[in-house]
Amino acid sequence: MAEEGKGEITQEQLEAFADSYASFNKIIQQLHQAYKDLEQKFENLNLELERTNLKLRESLAEKEKVTNYLNNILESLTSGVLVVNLEEKIALFNRAAEEITGYKADEVLNRPYLEIMGKEVDLQSTPVHTLRAGTSHLNEEKEVLTKLQAKIPLGYSTSLLQDSEGNLLGAVEVFFDLSKIKKLEEEIARVRTLAALGEMAATVAHEVKNPLGGISGFADLLNRDIEEGDPRKNYVRKVIEGVDILNRIVMNLLDYTRSIKLDLRPIDFKRFLEEIVGFFEMDILREKKNIKIERFYPSEKCGCFLDAEKFKQVVLNLLYNASQALPDGGLIQLSASLEARNIENKIPGSTAEQMLCLRIKDNGIGMSEEVKDKLFTPFFTTKEKGTGLGLSTVKKIVQAHKGEIKVDSKLGKGTTVTIFIPKSG
Ligand code: ADP
Ligand code: MG
Repeated sequence: MAEEGKGEITQEQLEAFADSYASFNKIIQQLHQAYKDLEQKFENLNLELERTNLKLRESLAEKEKVTNYLNNILESLTSGVLVVNLEEKIALFNRAAEEITGYKADEVLNRPYLEIMGKEVDLQSTPVHTLRAGTSHLNEEKEVLTKLQAKIPLGYSTSLLQDSEGNLLGAVEVFFDLSKIKKLEEEIARVRTLAALGEMAATVAHEVKNPLGGISGFADLLNRDIEEGDPRKNYVRKVIEGVDILNRIVMNLLDYTRSIKLDLRPIDFKRFLEEIVGFFEMDILREKKNIKIERFYPSEKCGCFLDAEKFKQVVLNLLYNASQALPDGGLIQLSASLEARNIENKIPGSTAEQMLCLRIKDNGIGMSEEVKDKLFTPFFTTKEKGTGLGLSTVKKIVQAHKGEIKVDSKLGKGTTVTIFIPKSG
């Protein structure tokens, strides 16, 4: 029986099989559903992740924008900004700081502040002191050494640096170069002294003028009375010569101390220059000096507003100085041009003005540093018969025209004087 039963499936078996198939099917279906659920969950998670990623990217971009913005502000500041961290090392050094100190940020970042900026400086005036003692500085002054070991005056402020929760991060120092301001202050003090001296000199000159006139008149009378051949005639001539020189000095002085009133008129600058240079050339020919003059004029018309009489003094003074710097002859180059430029000491950023530029260059004896320093001081001269009033008068006239004068000179090589005058007067 058992043998017969082999290979046959009983009803029971069939049912059991059907049952298990059904439950297997169910399990499969359940698994399938679970898989689908998982898939859905995975997709949802993925979506969420993507959203979070996007948000993160956005917030990073936003953060970068703010950082860039702050960095740009820091870099565009004309004040130097530096930060020292808690280890007293430099953690930030903006572009203005680089320009003022001469150090590049790469050279100083992460290096001890005192090693870089603390040389020959009172510790009290450093942000390191602020960090250690907690005291800040506001608008104080100190002198620091630049990378090239030059001492420069700085205006500076320091304060502690904290994060939004009040944790100490370091100290910040903001500073700016006071050299220009100091120079201006010195110049103002110098001008004040000169003005006071000028006033006094003018009074003295005025007082001296009358007795001088008397001496000169009586000397003339004496001269007339003394016979030719009389040895005393020579003495009188010496007196007259001396009085003449004194008179010239007094007149120059009075001229110099008088305040300038300009009579501005439209001028064709090239023609104006040509007239003066023509006159000067004749003088050179007469004195048989071996001096060549080259001119460089722009092709366009050079109309401008000038006080012709006064400006003529400027050009002539410069030409004569150039020729006197060429005792053995040489070359004088005179050039005129129009340039757009900002005049010094004007508000930075203001638009450039059309300026008339006059340059007179000689290849003469040049000047020492000492001479260069005193160039514009009245009565400073290195010449036996100089008055020392040429350049100070030139400067006065140029400044009255709201212009600027620059002198470049090398001993033994030559001198270039450049004048800028606003074209429109
Ligand atoms: P002065 O010509 O009467 O000496 P200035 O004021 O014109 O007075 O010049 C002052 C000094 O500046 C001169 O004595 C001279 O030493 C120097 N100087 C001016 N111009 C030149 C120049 N072109 N080359 C060399 N030195 C110059
Ligand atoms: Mg002179």
